[in-house]
Order: sequence, then structure tokens, then C-alpha cells
Amino acid sequence: VNTGNGKGKTTAALGLMLRAHGRGLRVRMFQFLKHESAKFGEHRTLDVLGLPYEGLGDGFTWRSRDLENSAAMAAHGWSLARAAIESGEHDLIVLDEFTYALKYGWVPWPEVEVVLRARDPLLHVVVTGRDALPELIALADTVSEIRPVKHAYEAGIGAQTGIEY
Ligand code: ATP
Ligand code: MG
Repeated sequence: VNTGNGKGKTTAALGLMLRAHGRGLRVRMFQFLKHESAKFGEHRTLDVLGLPYEGLGDGFTWRSRDLENSAAMAAHGWSLARAAIESGEHDLIVLDEFTYALKYGWVPWPEVEVVLRARDPLLHVVVTGRDALPELIALADTVSEIRPVKHAYEAGIGAQTGIEY
């Protein structure tokens, strides 16, 4: 679990995908807050490497307040992620920004817990996002909380291409 309010949760998960892929592990990423058509820097690189990722959010979850839609998208995303976890076809699965689906109850924690506990013990599942549930933190083997010391954004530097997206 990569959680906390500092910068680096998603990029750390991407770094782990790089490392795992280099060792021949079968990796896959599900992004719960990214639009299907998003082509950020990481997506361009994943395309070059042939690593699979799926965008599952509507990309406007923070702004739209369209909670019913967000809930449906998160539930759909979880059904795909769950199938991947149960497929036995991967060694590392990243559930990027999945903490929010749990926090807002769009995906029921008890079901996630059952699926994670029943998974192949050799399958690594990485969850990123702020406000990880205490239950998720308790279940996880490795948890890192990234603390923001400072961020260029606060000095007036906006999101930078290739650094933020
Ligand atoms: P990154 O994708 O850079 O690893 P993250 O996954 O830790 O960031 P998120 O909470 O997913 O952070 O934030 C999404 C966006 O906000 C990213 O563009 C990220 O770089 C940026 N960001 C993250 N933390 C901060 C912060 N403390 N202040 C300002 N912007 C931030
Ligand atoms: Mg992130």
C-alpha cells in the first residue's frame, strides 16, 4: 500500500512495475481515477514496453460530484480487477487510486478482503491513494505513507508535463 498526502504514490507503483517487468514478472495496472483515453507520460512508456493498463474512472470524479456514476465505474473497475486477481495470469497487479473506491464505499471492503486473502500467495497486489482504510493497512504486508514536506505546487509551479502527468 502506497498512501499518504505526499507526491510519489503512483510513480512508486510504476517504478515497481518497471522492476518486476525486468525480472520477467507479469504485471498489469488498473487505474481507478483515470479516463480510458488518458495518455500521460507513464501510459506512453507502458505502451512502448507492452505493459497492460486500464483506465477505469471517468477522470472527473473530483469535480463532477456525480457520485452515482463514480460508484458504478468503481464497481465495474473492481469487477475487472477481481477477475485479473483470480485469473492466475499475473504476478503483480497495481490498483491505482483504489483507496477512494473503498473510502467512499463504492466497492465493499469485505468483498475486497475475501478476494485478497484468497489470492495466489505469490501474487503481489499494490494499492495506491490517500486515506487507505485501516483494515487495508492491517491486511497489507508492506505499507508506505508518503508525507508531504513540500511541493513545488505551493510555490506556484503548476503541474509539469512529464513530472506530474
Ligand atoms: P504521483 O502520480 O506524482 O506519484 P501521487 O500518486 O502520490 O503522485 P495523487 O494523490 O495521485 O499523488 O495526486 C495526483 C496528482 O497530484 C499528481 O499529478 C501528483 O503529482 C500531484 N500531487 C501529489 N501530491 C501532491 C501534493 N502534496 N501537492 C500538490 N500536488 C500533488
Ligand atoms: Mg496517484
